[in-house]
Amino acid sequence: MPDSVRKWLRKSDLDPVDARLLLSHVTGLSRIELITRSDRLLTETEFSQLEKLAKTRKQGMPIPYILNNQEFFSRNFKVNPSVLIPRPDTEVLIEWLLDNLRPSDSVVDLGTGSGCIAITLKKELPTLQVSASDISIDALNTAKENASDLEADITFRQGSWLDAFDSNITFDVLVSNPPYIRKDDHHLQALRFEPINALTDGDNGLQCIDTILSQAKERLSHSLRIIAIEHGWDQGEYVRNLFAQHGFFNAQTHRDYGNNERFTTWQHQS
Ligand code: GLN
Repeated sequence: MPDSVRKWLRKSDLDPVDARLLLSHVTGLSRIELITRSDRLLTETEFSQLEKLAKTRKQGMPIPYILNNQEFFSRNFKVNPSVLIPRPDTEVLIEWLLDNLRPSDSVVDLGTGSGCIAITLKKELPTLQVSASDISIDALNTAKENASDLEADITFRQGSWLDAFDSNITFDVLVSNPPYIRKDDHHLQALRFEPINALTDGDNGLQCIDTILSQAKERLSHSLRIIAIEHGWDQGEYVRNLFAQHGFFNAQTHRDYGNNERFTTWQHQS
């Protein structure tokens, strides 16, 4: 006798929220239907699929990678282990940008990963010209797929930060959520399913930010009006200093939903 939805839920030793998400994913039943139709029997294929996903979950794979989906700024993004899972913290960066961008700005998102920053900006402010780069071809393909699913017209280039673009191209706004975790930060253990190169620079967590600011100074100092870079909760002061070292003075750090310093911005004083 195959398990019913209710029976599988009762027997499962997963977190109940996770168990319901997996059930919905595999059966196509909504959260409400999992209750109203809890006596619905699982087919054999559904059952074996569920057992497989439950095992993966127990090994620590984050739910968004199992479901290949993460919501960001109320849109669904495809995710897989070649890109970071978009975080709510980054939504605060989006909100700040939406308050400060001009409709005609050309924006570049460096290290775009799933494309969540670039795509969200383009969807929220469709008159922007948005470009994005990533060094990882797998990440870039994921971002392209998301842009196509969400119908966002974005120029994607593969390469290291600004080096992905022709040297004569200019931008008004530079945004990035680069790898900023220190190589010896114990949080990396908990993030072992996410791409390590998107999380840490293998050093003190500030190397990529330093490279980005140095490229920005060299290539974009005449056009840039805004720089916005995400960083770790304890890096605000270091990052402001890096901005100043590269000639971007009076940078400001902003806090995330958890009240931690999360991103630093610079605006051209005109
Ligand atoms: N915000 C992520 C975390 O701390 C890290 C993202 C990054 O390194 N860019 O889990």
